[in-house]
Order: sequence, then structure tokens, then C-alpha cells
Amino acid sequence: VADVVGARPSEVVFNSGATEANNLALFGTATQVDRLIVSAIEHPSVLEPAAVLREAGAAVDILPTDAAGRADLGVLDRILAQAPALVSIMAANNEIGTLQPLAEIGRLCRSHGAVFHTDAVQALTTQAVDVVEAGVDLLSLSGHKLHGPAGIGALVVRGGRSLRPLTHGGGQQGGRRPGTVAVALCVGLGAACRLALARRLQDAVTVAALRDRLFDALGDGLPSLRRNGPQTGVLPGCLNVTLPGVDAADLLLDLPDLAVSTGSACSTAADTSSHVLSAIGLSAADAHSSLRFGLGRGTTARDVDDAAARIIAALRDRGRPG
Ligand code: PLP
Repeated sequence: VADVVGARPSEVVFNSGATEANNLALFGTATQVDRLIVSAIEHPSVLEPAAVLREAGAAVDILPTDAAGRADLGVLDRILAQAPALVSIMAANNEIGTLQPLAEIGRLCRSHGAVFHTDAVQALTTQAVDVVEAGVDLLSLSGHKLHGPAGIGALVVRGGRSLRPLTHGGGQQGGRRPGTVAVALCVGLGAACRLALARRLQDAVTVAALRDRLFDALGDGLPSLRRNGPQTGVLPGCLNVTLPGVDAADLLLDLPDLAVSTGSACSTAADTSSHVLSAIGLSAADAHSSLRFGLGRGTTARDVDDAAARIIAALRDRGRPG
């Protein structure tokens, strides 16, 4: 697990997943800094702890992004000059796939004495992330996003940094995460990390080709299709598109066995438009007309051709060629 991000084994704090890791990073560090700075497109497991800390009196800045979802580093530089801060910016976004320039952010944080946390959950199957090179102090990862078991994740805590634990009552893992460690799940996570290390370069190429194939196939049948997020510097397995005028949630009712989501998969049940699409400037109407595809190691050319054909057919049946 340490190897997959260039850390030392003693720096890995196992826990139940990235939601817990992100909570530990924010709540565990909040008392050591004067400000929290989180990007507008973070996962709710960063944004909601930040909101709770703000309610409790902490100064929290939400860092804007550009239309590609890249954090505004000029604004970050200005805020960092004011006070010691914790900066939480994800390595890769789960809805539009934007990759952030971690090393540049790490340098900025170091030059201002800030603590740098990154949620790397989405990055590790296809991207090389090295906590030393990127100047990352805290990094969250999750087993099931690495094709490993669910219910296990870790916060990588560099250089013996002290953290206030979320729970109390045991000395395990240096007191940073009290409670008995789920050894079998840790072994599964370790195996998934080894596979990621061995395969990520090849997987990145294969999955990017499938994503482009999917986009082309959808575009052939739906000329008004628009792609959201960056064209380059993007996760290979993430495709987010807008079908202007189409109610995406309603469309998916016709395609119940297709693994596609509107907004983020974690919040498909919620009838709110995606905070990520809103942060990159989409109207609420366009956000509700957007679909997000997640491709991975197990995706085949047949899967993507079938998905595109079925979406196009479902829209034709509704009299909406797109
Ligand atoms: N962070 C990101 C970017 C995610 O995509 C997810 C899950 O989808 C999480 C955090 C939460 O991870 P977990 O399910 O391991 O708690």
C-alpha cells in the first residue's frame, strides 16, 4: 500500500475507506491550522467535514476552479499568504476526471508552510502519484476504487505528523486510528495496490482508447453531444457528457442495467444537480442533462459499443435524436 504512492509502510494508517480518511485528514488537522482551503469540486467526504468545521467556527475557503475543473492556484497563493492552512485538493475528480497539478500545489503549500492533503481515490489505478515528489503531507485512498475490497482504505500520514484521532480508546496504529485492524482487508488492499502498480501504465492507455471510442460512438448518433471537463490532463476512465434538453435521470430509467450515472454515482438518489458541474460553469438545466460514465480495467469494446447504441436507441424511441 505504501509503495503505490511512494510512502513508507509506517506512514499508512488503515481505516474503513476514503470517507473516513478524508474526515481524519480534515478533523485531525483542523486544530493545528488557522484556515481550511478546499476546492469547490471535492467529494462530499471533504466538503461536508469542511462545512461542519465552519459551523464550529473554523475559517474555510472554497477554492474556485476553471471550466476544466482545475483549482485556481493564484487565489490559493493569495489565501495561503494570510495564515497557516490545511489545503485539501483531490488528485483526480470523480465526476469529470480533472487531474490537478499536485507537484505545483505541493510546492505552493511548502512555500507557505501549509499542510497539503489530497484525496487520491480516483487516481491510483491509472496515475503515478508519489507523495514525496508531489510534496503531499496527507493522502486518502480507498480499496474498492482500486479494484480491491470495499470497507478498507487508508490515510497516508507523512513524516510522523501528529493527528487528532476521530475515535478514542485504543493505541492501534500509533493511536491515529484506534481499534483492531481488519487484517484480511488490508491484505486485499495490498494485493490491489500491487496490481495497480504493475498495470496502471497499460490500463491508462487501454481505458483511454475505450473512453474515446465511447465518446465517438455517442457523438455519431447524437450530434449535439458536449463533453464536460478537460480534454487533456484527465482520468482515462471518466467521461462526462451533456445531451442538451434531455432529462438524464429520466433517460436512465429506460436503461436500468447500464452502469451510468447522472452527477456523481454516490448521489444518484439525490435530486440536486452536481456541485462539480455547477463549479465548472454548467447551468442547472445542462447539469440535469449530463451523464457520467466510469470505465475501468474490466470494460470491453463491446461494453462501450453496447452502451452507446442503447442510449442512442432510447433517445430515438423518445423522439429525441439529440
Ligand atoms: N473520494 C472520492 C473522490 C470518491 O470518488 C469516493 C467514492 O466514490 C470517496 C472519496 C469515498 O470513498 P469510500 O467509498 O471509500 O468511503
